[in-house]
Amino acid sequence: MRSYTVTEWAHPLQLLEQPTPVPTGTEVLVRVTAAGVCHSDLHIHDGHYDLGGGKLLRMQERGMALPLTLGHETAGVVEAVGSDASGVEIGQQVAVYPWIGCGHCDACELGEEQNCPQPRTLGIFLAGGYATHILVPDPRYCLDIGDIPPEVAALYACSGITTYSSLKKIDPRVLANEPILIIGAGGLGLMALTVLQGMGGHGAIVADIDASKREAALKNGAYAAIDPTVPDAVDQIKAASPHGRGLRAAIDLVGNPSTAQLAIDSLVKGGKLIAVGLMGGEITLPLPLIPMRALTIEGNYVGSLEDMRELMALVREKHVPAPPVTKRPLDQAQAVIDELRGGRITGRAVLIP
Ligand SMILES: [Zn+2]
Ligand SMILES: [Zn+2]
Repeated sequence: MRSYTVTEWAHPLQLLEQPTPVPTGTEVLVRVTAAGVCHSDLHIHDGHYDLGGGKLLRMQERGMALPLTLGHETAGVVEAVGSDASGVEIGQQVAVYPWIGCGHCDACELGEEQNCPQPRTLGIFLAGGYATHILVPDPRYCLDIGDIPPEVAALYACSGITTYSSLKKIDPRVLANEPILIIGAGGLGLMALTVLQGMGGHGAIVADIDASKREAALKNGAYAAIDPTVPDAVDQIKAASPHGRGLRAAIDLVGNPSTAQLAIDSLVKGGKLIAVGLMGGEITLPLPLIPMRALTIEGNYVGSLEDMRELMALVREKHVPAPPVTKRPLDQAQAVIDELRGGRITGRAVLIP
């Protein structure tokens, strides 16, 4: 098998040729047909997250070790199974749920493997999908994709469940009747717009610093797109709200000090900010404002296996439109990472082996 692998933090990915693994026990060997390149892959590649104030959260401190093959948005074809793996067929087309936990802690027992303190995430702790093959620990993480194209199904494993799980954290009455604010119109933002449509959402006002991304958001169903760098950005957002006072919910898919502040400033009393993006930095928030404004700030980290099952059922039943996808050869993995870093990818780039 071939893989594009991080062998040294922040250094170019290396092409590795290794024997294709033979699945044992409950393992499933999937031949990769699509691997999404997620923005968080950039942070993993760098080897750290920026916590603000000069502080870094290093991947090594999170228990990650090199060499590591990136890629946690993977779809493929089941090629071989271990002797104890049941529930998948050879030749079946599947999307792989990557946020795998230890399987026996309280979080895992609640079905929240994504919050397990000892994660075995594919593409972060175990080898991921920037490769011709991926080894999945158990068939339950292989979800049938039916007639969804693999380059779209792959995305539901991260950008799909992240936005779905974030949208589920908003009061359904708000979602159905009022616009929400979505900050960031990259791969996640455009996915959020399509999932919102599938959930019967009223719609979204999108904020992005990049004019071409604002245009992409409007094309994908946003009913307003705002440049957050203009001085009256908050006023524009409020003006687009039903009563002119602001919005009840905001999803920050960027996660830097200015986007978090924009979200908080755009909310009405009782409003909720879902923090998703990992760009980095910190904000100062006067504590009395949290109770006085009845403000909720809720973090969302990806989604559960059940979220992915629900989302894929929703995509099929409601014919959720596919977000914009650009297919690129696997051999261009490093170039795609560089372009994503430079903000030059619209929608999601997906590597095709
Ligand atoms: Zn991701
Ligand atoms: Zn666990």
